[in-house]
Amino acid sequence: MAALRLWSRRRAVGPRAGVRGLAAGRHDYDLLVIGGGSGGLACSKEAAQYGRKVAVLDYVEPSPKGTRWGLGGTCVNVGCIPKKLMHHGALLGNAIKDAKKYGWDISLPVRHDWGVMANAVQNHVKSLNWGHLVQLQDKKVKYLNLKGVFVDQHTIQGESKKGEKTLLTAKNIVLATGGRPRYPVNIPGAEFGISSDDIFWLRDSPGKTLVIGASYVALECAGFLTGVGLDTSLMIRSIPLRGFDQQMAHLVTDYMTSYGTRIFWKCTPVKIEKMNSGKLQVIWKNLASDIEERESFDTVMWAIGRAPETQNLCLDKAGVRLNPETGKVIVGAGEETSASHIYAIGDIAEGRPELTPTAIKAGKLLAHRLFGRSTQLMDYDNVATTVFTPLEYGCVGLSEEEAVRRYGEDSIEIYHAYYKPLEFMVAERDATQCYIKMVCLREDDQRILGLHFIGLNAGEVIQGFALGLKCNATYSQLASTVGIHPTSAEEVNKLNITKRSGLDATVTSC
Ligand code: FAD
Ligand code: NAP
Repeated sequence: MAALRLWSRRRAVGPRAGVRGLAAGRHDYDLLVIGGGSGGLACSKEAAQYGRKVAVLDYVEPSPKGTRWGLGGTCVNVGCIPKKLMHHGALLGNAIKDAKKYGWDISLPVRHDWGVMANAVQNHVKSLNWGHLVQLQDKKVKYLNLKGVFVDQHTIQGESKKGEKTLLTAKNIVLATGGRPRYPVNIPGAEFGISSDDIFWLRDSPGKTLVIGASYVALECAGFLTGVGLDTSLMIRSIPLRGFDQQMAHLVTDYMTSYGTRIFWKCTPVKIEKMNSGKLQVIWKNLASDIEERESFDTVMWAIGRAPETQNLCLDKAGVRLNPETGKVIVGAGEETSASHIYAIGDIAEGRPELTPTAIKAGKLLAHRLFGRSTQLMDYDNVATTVFTPLEYGCVGLSEEEAVRRYGEDSIEIYHAYYKPLEFMVAERDATQCYIKMVCLREDDQRILGLHFIGLNAGEVIQGFALGLKCNATYSQLASTVGIHPTSAEEVNKLNITKRSGLDATVTSC
């Protein structure tokens, strides 16, 4: 059956397809992908389905703390996967507390063992590393555990861990080298901190932890550390979740505060000192009071953004242009760089969302355009995303601020509701921050521009609505849809109070 499906697809893509083992002409490969992460693996596997000679180079430089991992890139090893599993592990702590109210006899206080969780998560990640290797083999993609650098426009030098060098040539080259966590410059003692490249691979509990930063990585990591019972603080120098709807972002941090994460607002680190006890003394400046404050922690985690992996590729030898400010590769709508046979996808490409599904889809579509007859471009508009904080925040489309900026306040209608998930009722959990906001145009049928949801399983809720936005759904269409009861998602279908009306938006009954 699988063979039949493959055959049909080859037929469907025309005469250039279905030529497995096709000679790559004067080059070693038809396609060489540098970076075996979300985008690179997807692109190389898809290209190989067309019978092209494909290789993927993947090499992991250990973190400054010496953490290393296997094939699959950031998402699999030090991103989405271990993060979501640890987030889930932390949420189970809430479930245990709720369970008592439902009659489960659990002797409190319950204890969490970091080592058990970390070991289980790491084993799962290792199984995924293996799975990726097998898939590459099955699909006849040559996997090379080499670090790639350009020698000229069509030649890559691959270097192994032992320093052995190999020259590889390819007709087309895809750059998919992703990014790595930034460390701050000019902060003495910054090297004592760890990053998201290390946290998931710690064998022992990080203990009392300070997470510095205010975006996805910082909030998510501080969230699950708090959830597993660790004394966790978050240091935010400006605003949380820059670029997101700020009303929603503040509800997320409000919940985190009530959940037990200490937040140092408007503070910026000055120095880290290692004490004789091994603890880290952090000195920071409170930007509001201009006063220096200090406290000791077992672990300090930097979550201050990520730098694209473009500096060591010798891209100048291939004529690939970078944005000097961001260090990212400048790309066109077809992911092409300034060198016509070199493409860039995923986190290293300028202006793209730094998300796994966009890297994967961009990689697959690029392979279809290169080796099939497709002309379909990646559509980066209205990409849904979720921040996996203790109370999750999922969204798609425009924030309220962005909609107002683009269309003007008078042209925007905001529907909103504070709701209480049924799951919170018997457990008597505080639902103050469970909130939904839908941003619409005000005219006619009120096209939906953005949807924002804070609550349980926000990613699962938002995913389906993303289709609605792609199809230009309107408020009237949504309001004519019947909800599924009892769910939190049905509260989206029931939205009927506008912000403009000033009416109380609290949902009081089912
Ligand atoms: P990567 O997956 O980073 O892969 C690049 C690969 O190239 C790496 O293996 C790297 O070692 C290798 N490489 C680099 N240079 C070379 C070289 N010269 N030669 C050979 N190999 C090289 N996204 C989501 O959608 N959902 C989430 O929940 C989510 N959570 C995240 C949590 C964290 C903590 C982080 C850090 C990221 C998260 N992301 C999430 C983002 C997601 O992981 C990235 O957007 C995605 O992995 C980018 O894929 P990529 O193919 O561009 O690069
Ligand atoms: P980011 O979105 O680039 O944000 C960097 C954060 O660090 C900002 O809050 C910034 O504050 C702060 N910061 C920067 N320099 C600082 C300094 N010197 N001192 C203190 N704070 C500093 O970075 P990120 O959280 O690493 O995320 C990177 C990308 O990974 C995201 O864009 C996202 O696409 C992806 N990701 C996705 C998920 C998911 O899908 N759930 C999860 C994790 C990561 P200012 O705002 O003040 O500049």
